[in-house]
Amino acid sequence: MKQYDLFINGEFVQSSAGVIREVRNPATEEVVSLVQEATIDDTRRAIQAAADAQSSWAGLPAIQRANYLTQIAARIRDNMDYLAQVISEEQGKILSMALGEVSSTADYLEYMAGWARRIEGEIIPSDRPNENIFLFRKPIGVVAGILPWNFPFFLIARKMAPALITGNTIVIKPSEETPNNAFEFAKIVAECNLPKGVFNVVSGNGATVGAELASNPQIGLITFTGSVETGTSIMKAAADNITKVSLELGGKAPAIVMDDADIDLAVRCIRLSRIGNAGQVCNCAERIYVHEAVLSEFTDKMVEAMTNTTYGDPLSGEVDMGPLINREQLSKVETIVERAVQEGATVAIGGKRAPTQKGHYFEPTVLLNCKQEMEITHKEIFGPVLPIIPFRHLEEAISMANDSSYGLTSSIYTKSLEVMMRAANELKFGETYVNRENNEAIQAFHSGWRKSGLGGDDGKHGLEEFLQWRVVYVQY
Ligand code: NAD
Repeated sequence: MKQYDLFINGEFVQSSAGVIREVRNPATEEVVSLVQEATIDDTRRAIQAAADAQSSWAGLPAIQRANYLTQIAARIRDNMDYLAQVISEEQGKILSMALGEVSSTADYLEYMAGWARRIEGEIIPSDRPNENIFLFRKPIGVVAGILPWNFPFFLIARKMAPALITGNTIVIKPSEETPNNAFEFAKIVAECNLPKGVFNVVSGNGATVGAELASNPQIGLITFTGSVETGTSIMKAAADNITKVSLELGGKAPAIVMDDADIDLAVRCIRLSRIGNAGQVCNCAERIYVHEAVLSEFTDKMVEAMTNTTYGDPLSGEVDMGPLINREQLSKVETIVERAVQEGATVAIGGKRAPTQKGHYFEPTVLLNCKQEMEITHKEIFGPVLPIIPFRHLEEAISMANDSSYGLTSSIYTKSLEVMMRAANELKFGETYVNRENNEAIQAFHSGWRKSGLGGDDGKHGLEEFLQWRVVYVQY
């Protein structure tokens, strides 16, 4: 049985209240680890350690900070198989996808390390003689990184790498469901001798540890990935201290399949959206608008592809899909499907919990006769369920796609340049994927519109979230 302690000020320590959480494997429902639960005091100690370490960390040349990130990336690459197993065991994604997550995590650290010599200030001409105006880029201070469970390891890098390369220090709070991988990350950080206090991990409840991070006045930036509901609470708590927030929240991505689409490509990519991580991916296609002219071809091929989807032990290396994260998520998906059926949807395949003895499995599901006004078209499903909604004209499809309180990603399948360009200009989402799967690049910018978020991650613009401007006027 694995056991994990909190990582505060460069040391592994026990919870001051001696509280321990059992972490379960969603495939077997068995306990796989015992993890220390931080108290509010433990969280404050982690924040204080990060605050104490920040100015000397920021004082290091950026290239030295980058060297730590590349060393961490190298150790991650050396331990790919083990780390992928840890992720798969507590989170339920299939091993090949967990390996992809570990590899992207190392890529992310290396990418952000590459910014060391590229973060530049500005010199502005003054209106006065003998004066220069200098604009410096400065770190914000202590960052709180609050994480969900769906890409737990990658998201540590997405928060800590830009924070550290820009001279901030960080306190990471993993999800209650998936703390193990965060402490494995901390072990690697410790082996790389990162200065004490620069990187801390406190596991525990959202309502205590998370809320303390959101409301503590020593925190300069809260970078959060998770649900809209929690994002709203964090923003409210941050408001009391005018703490900056960067929020990556939920999604309800539309996919539009036009009459000239490569149907095989559309089926392949959209199926991946629904079965990858068992459909628990914020940016993946959750509602599919299909042109009437290709509805029956698309539906037949999609039903066949979903029928051929295998599920079971994610560690076996032999299945396409693992379980959902927990019992609550399984009930949530079940209820959304039941309501859709009550509202008139028909089940082409699946539609229910899988008949397994153990594990939170839901059958790969395709729902036909769905309509724009149904709940399933608007509520985030986060499960292997694919609702199909027919349309006749592009205008209608774009209008239905835009009719959402979420605005994270969208996609369209077509061979027409005119349709691509209309989609690029008229779909109101932070990202649009044309003729490809929904999967963002680390050098781009992942940012949700409307209730999907505020600020963003990745690339140059994601890095800027971790910096503030400082202006110095020099008369000589
Ligand atoms: P969640 O909001 O329930 O929890 C996320 C984190 O917030 C957890 O660590 C939790 O403990 C913490 N938390 C809970 N209450 C808190 C509070 N009051 N104050 C501070 N922290 C608190 O989300 P989840 O169920 O772990 O993850 C799934 C959600 O994440 C989905 O909605 C998904 O779309 C979203 N997500 C978005 C992105 C993106 O890039 N936009 C990526 C991955 C997941």
